[in-house]
Amino acid sequence: MTLGHASLPAGLTAGEQHRLDRLRRALARRKRGSNRRGWVKRAIARLAARVTDRRKDWVEKTSTSLARGCDVIRVEALSIRGMTRSAKGTLDQPGRGVRQKAGLNRGILANGWGMLVTRLDHKAPGRMEKVKAAYTSQQCSACGYIAPENRKSKAVFQCVACRFVCHADVNAAKNIAAGRAVTARGALQPLGGAVNREPQLAPLTL
Ligand SMILES: [Zn+2]
Repeated sequence: MTLGHASLPAGLTAGEQHRLDRLRRALARRKRGSNRRGWVKRAIARLAARVTDRRKDWVEKTSTSLARGCDVIRVEALSIRGMTRSAKGTLDQPGRGVRQKAGLNRGILANGWGMLVTRLDHKAPGRMEKVKAAYTSQQCSACGYIAPENRKSKAVFQCVACRFVCHADVNAAKNIAAGRAVTARGALQPLGGAVNREPQLAPLTL
């Protein structure tokens, strides 16, 4: 079974995002040390706590159902540290140089992904494998051909060799589920203890 990083919930509903944007603008107007500023900061903290609770809940439910339903779980090995650093900052003070919403969502995604992988490790000991993400998005899951041109857009994968068409995330997920880590030259490297069965794909949209 394969998890797509993109399928993790970002955490904020549209309404909450709107409220957060308003609170941030209000925060910028309030004087440091004022009562009103304190109130705005507490409102932002409450919103952050709600997002954290929801994310934890999702991580627990998802890791339990995966650990119960799958013999082998393969996940994309991501640089969580790198991603988290790029989205450094908190809800009320997003990192500089990071667009607020993008930075926040990226941080939540990276954080949620790391939490999920950690919990899977606990709930399915010895049954989780991390697959390097390199080239999984450029490789055709039908014929194995690797080329940047295969990736027509963020969403569409179309193999220039065999014409296989697929959603780009699903194509990458199939490569990861097959347990293939790919080198720059395109040689397939089977992982140790590869399981000889068709991968199941379960897009996680909870
Ligand atoms: Zn192909």
